[in-house]
Amino acid sequence: MRSKVIAIQLMIVLLLGAVIYGYVGHLLKRYQTTEMAQHLLQEAGVARIVAAREIRDLRRDAPALVETLGRELKQRVTVIAWNGDVMGDSEVPAKKLAELDNHLDRPEIRDAMAKGNGSSIRYSETVHRDMLYAALPFKTAAGQDAVLRVALSLSSIKEAKDQFNAVLIWSLFLAGATVVFFSSLLASVSTKSLHTVAAMAAKIDKGEIGTRLPVASGSEVGELARVFNNMAQKTEEQLERLAAEKNRLDTILHGMGEGIMVADPQGVITLVNPAFRDLFALHDDVEGKQLIDISRHPGLQDSFRGVIGSGQERVEELQLHTPKEKTVLTHWVPLLENGALSGVVAVFHDISDIRQLEKIRRDFVANVSHELRTPVTIIKGYAETLLGGALENPEQAARFVNIVYSHADRLASLIGDLLTLSQLESGTIALESRSVSLHDMAEHVVALLEQKIRERGISVDISGLSRAPAVLGDPGRLEQVLVNLVDNAVKYTAAGGSITFSASAEGDRVTVAVKDTGIGIPARDLPRIFERFYRVDTARSREEGGTGLGLSIVKHIVQLLGGTVSVESSGQGSTFFVTLKKA
Ligand code: ADP
Repeated sequence: MRSKVIAIQLMIVLLLGAVIYGYVGHLLKRYQTTEMAQHLLQEAGVARIVAAREIRDLRRDAPALVETLGRELKQRVTVIAWNGDVMGDSEVPAKKLAELDNHLDRPEIRDAMAKGNGSSIRYSETVHRDMLYAALPFKTAAGQDAVLRVALSLSSIKEAKDQFNAVLIWSLFLAGATVVFFSSLLASVSTKSLHTVAAMAAKIDKGEIGTRLPVASGSEVGELARVFNNMAQKTEEQLERLAAEKNRLDTILHGMGEGIMVADPQGVITLVNPAFRDLFALHDDVEGKQLIDISRHPGLQDSFRGVIGSGQERVEELQLHTPKEKTVLTHWVPLLENGALSGVVAVFHDISDIRQLEKIRRDFVANVSHELRTPVTIIKGYAETLLGGALENPEQAARFVNIVYSHADRLASLIGDLLTLSQLESGTIALESRSVSLHDMAEHVVALLEQKIRERGISVDISGLSRAPAVLGDPGRLEQVLVNLVDNAVKYTAAGGSITFSASAEGDRVTVAVKDTGIGIPARDLPRIFERFYRVDTARSREEGGTGLGLSIVKHIVQLLGGTVSVESSGQGSTFFVTLKKA
């Protein structure tokens, strides 16, 4: 900007110089050619009158006269005979006249002879200078034709012109220097504030968005600064709003249970949230990688390509194996920018638990129906037989009614267990939290089952609980737990076997162990033994009047009491451990 201003002003100065030079040159030229020539002609006119009177004989009188005239006029005066010979020249000695050229070819002489007067400007070979000539014809006193010429040296004019040129050049130089100096001064004053604006803009460009400019009111730069400040303010507010929005979005994405993935149309992942990483068990950076590098699941690729190809939303259920088996509901949405597809957003919802629960519910309904069907069918069958005539036979009738009774009993215990389970699962039952002596509780349970224990010929040892610390729990529910465990131990232990109670304490926990010497539980069944209706040997369980729900009830109660239950079996006998809070 500054150099442009200086250049323009210098150009103006130069242009002015050129105009002045041209104009003055033109004036001088006009002065030379017209006015000086005119003046010289007038002088020549006067000189010719003198010459016409004073010269009788050219050769004799001319040299003296031209000398006098030259001296008086302070010009070079020449007299030329009609044949062109120079008869006298004020600046050439008379002796040397003969050496001069014939002057007939001189333009002013030719014009004088032909037209009566002549003038010209040329370089004189005789005196070696630029000269202005004026020539007029005249007749000597003796009637001889001749030409009188007056010449004026132009060296003074040239000198004046040279001087003028020198002055002009100096003036131009001075004007130029002044222009440069003042323009720079002015430019630096006016561009200083512009520089400040530019520096601030550069700062904002670097990210220092809080930068503001002092506003000098009244000037254009002040106005510019105000606009800049406004712009910076608005940009800052917008950035803050964007940052807040991004923050909120990040928080939402972070907190979402669903996995989110954004990919560009080429399948390069641009964003994922922690839930997505968990779902696919990813630990490294995911952004910038291809979708196919994250998972080679064909369904994933198909869905992605489908959305890219059609631009339509898709909902797909996928079975993932990364690394666990998972059922994932995926929702694919195309991302549109100005109507063009710019990527895909995919939401991954892990519905494994829902599917699992659905399966458990289905299995449960099937199991319950199956369990109920057998006793109901039997009861119905025997009732029909009784009605069909068996009642007539009292012996048969008594046997059948017994069978009906035992299956009704089985139904009752099944329904009782189901009710207990549903109560436990609904979480509606209120549990007491009291100090319970394990020894007293075991004694009570053994007393309850005493008849069955005796019938089976099994010995029970509860001495291991004599010094056991009391536990915290609901006495009624704890009784249910121990009844189930002891009942199982009795059911699955052959005559002559034993059941041993023991206890150990660790920190604020007490573990009760119920160990039997029975048939044991195969290792592959151990993990599933607490599931509802899970039985190692269904026929045997039924035979023993089992419902397959006992251990399930045990597990629920212990969990409600804040404890844990586990089992160990090594083929020979089983040990069930129940860990509870110390009272
Ligand atoms: P059930 O009514 O069939 O006994 P449970 O839920 O109480 O149902 O037990 C589930 C299964 O666990 C039983 O069918 C049996 O196969 C096995 N089981 C439980 N306790 C013992 C034990 N003490 N010894 C051997 N097997 C047992």
